[in-house]
Amino acid sequence: MIPAMTQSIGLIEAGGTKFVLGLADANGAIVARHRIATTTPDETIAAALQWFQQQGPIARMGIAAFGPLDLDRASPHWGHVLSTPKPHWSMADLAGPFARILGCPVAIDTDVNGAALAESKWGAGQGVRSCVYLTIGTGVGGGAVINGHILGGAGHPEMGHMRLDRHPDDRAYFGYCSFHGGCLEGLACGPAILARWGKSLSDLPSGGAEQQMIAWYLGQAVVSLQAILAPARIILGGGVMATPGLIDLVRTHADGLGKGYFATRPADILTLPGLGDDAGLMGAFALSQTI
Ligand code: ZN
Repeated sequence: MIPAMTQSIGLIEAGGTKFVLGLADANGAIVARHRIATTTPDETIAAALQWFQQQGPIARMGIAAFGPLDLDRASPHWGHVLSTPKPHWSMADLAGPFARILGCPVAIDTDVNGAALAESKWGAGQGVRSCVYLTIGTGVGGGAVINGHILGGAGHPEMGHMRLDRHPDDRAYFGYCSFHGGCLEGLACGPAILARWGKSLSDLPSGGAEQQMIAWYLGQAVVSLQAILAPARIILGGGVMATPGLIDLVRTHADGLGKGYFATRPADILTLPGLGDDAGLMGAFALSQTI
């Protein structure tokens, strides 16, 4: 039990397979954590509420969640999951129950926007005015932080669904995205790699044709992001980027695709994340600070 005088901040990293719950002090030190399986919204949110109620008073909450989300504070559906292929979760209210039952202000945003903000404050995006965080894992998503603010407006970015040129040796594969086939996510996410080659990228030959192809796709994404936003840093995270040496292949392809046009070489702004295992909860904490 946390003493009643402590300013406890509730944190949720809401993922497709699990919800990671956390409790932080005012400085962001995580003092308790708990994980529950993601099942139906009713079950999952009730279990999360029960855990937070056992922790004592919550001063405020940050929720970093899978999307898509309604992030318009003026909308009656603010904090709801929008249409999603994930069963049961379309139009689920993720923020409201915590605000009502725990009686505290709640900030909610996408997990990648939370990670982008946390990386900009405490990780690989420290000390620069703008950064983009892109995660390449079971899906692909990204967020941008400019002068300490998350870039958005009409919703949140969907960087994973940008269009890419096809690699000449990749014509046979349709793509993993159920909406677009061969968008960035459809071509470069973990399941797309497994679908083509039956192995994860780290189990395929180092620097081989498969790794080069994925790096070429990621290089295209990097050059497009640089052309649109001119971020001081682009942080590439997620399970696929844990492939040893992949970041260097992406640097080489991004420089090649940039053709020397950009004042800053794409390779020079590319980096791996600075935050480790607690990145998701730190994202939620960073969001809680926006209240
Ligand atoms: Zn797509």
